[in-house]
Amino acid sequence: MDVPLLRIEQVSKSFGGHRVLCEVSLDVHAGQVQCVIGPSGSGKSTLLRCVNLLETPDSGHVYLDGEPMGHRWKNGVLHQMSAGRLAVQRRQMGMVFQGFHLFPHRRVIENVTEGPMVVNKVDRATARRQAMELLSKVGLAEKAEAYPESLSGGQQQRVAIARSLAMRPKLMLFDEPTSALDPELVGDVLDVMRDLAGEGMTMVVVTHEMGFARDVADHVVFMDGGVVVESGPPEQIFGAPEHERTRSFLARVL
Ligand code: ADP
Ligand code: MG
Repeated sequence: MDVPLLRIEQVSKSFGGHRVLCEVSLDVHAGQVQCVIGPSGSGKSTLLRCVNLLETPDSGHVYLDGEPMGHRWKNGVLHQMSAGRLAVQRRQMGMVFQGFHLFPHRRVIENVTEGPMVVNKVDRATARRQAMELLSKVGLAEKAEAYPESLSGGQQQRVAIARSLAMRPKLMLFDEPTSALDPELVGDVLDVMRDLAGEGMTMVVVTHEMGFARDVADHVVFMDGGVVVESGPPEQIFGAPEHERTRSFLARVL
């Protein structure tokens, strides 16, 4: 098989004396959607944060397209990368959190054009055209000139997704993107994510939406206590889980 787009290799992380991730490994191939499920406190957010080096793993490595995150080879030796290079590498991954963190004083479209214009030096007209395409994709073209506070949580989250996509990431990381939303707003956000998956975007999605995981994921990863207890296609994880911990978690959430 070809090189995975994302490889998480034996990543461990502790806070104080508390081991939060214990040698977690995961391969995500281009075009795959992997959903990470598990109880609160099992290390799911820490894992995503280790992927884009918002947290530094204590040991282990993360590779994006075969390139080690935060490091580069020089004369056969692995060196720490400069902050500038790391920023470039990080931008290849989009991240969407539970909270939307839009710029409150900027219009919706400005939230989407900001990154491309400031960071990627895209000209204003091009950035706006691309932003409008993305806002259409998430169903919010008519809100382009609105301010975030006038939008519902679900609409704000869809803007956050459009803003992430504007940076043309190779991979999207989602950390419970619908957990802060009122139940009636969840569906629209999941629909956007479903469309994205259908277009072939590579995605790692931490979620409590088991229906989404079952329908959309190619691969489901069950974490508990900082380890991957079990992973496999959704039919296997939801239909015939091998481990007692997986079964008891699913019995609680389904
Ligand atoms: P999940 O996303 O699965 O709920 P987290 O990755 O957020 O789990 O947290 C896993 C464990 O690590 C929890 O016990 C949490 O309290 C702890 N933890 C996470 N981040 C930090 C931090 N920055 N400092 C100390 N403890 C942390
Ligand atoms: Mg979390």
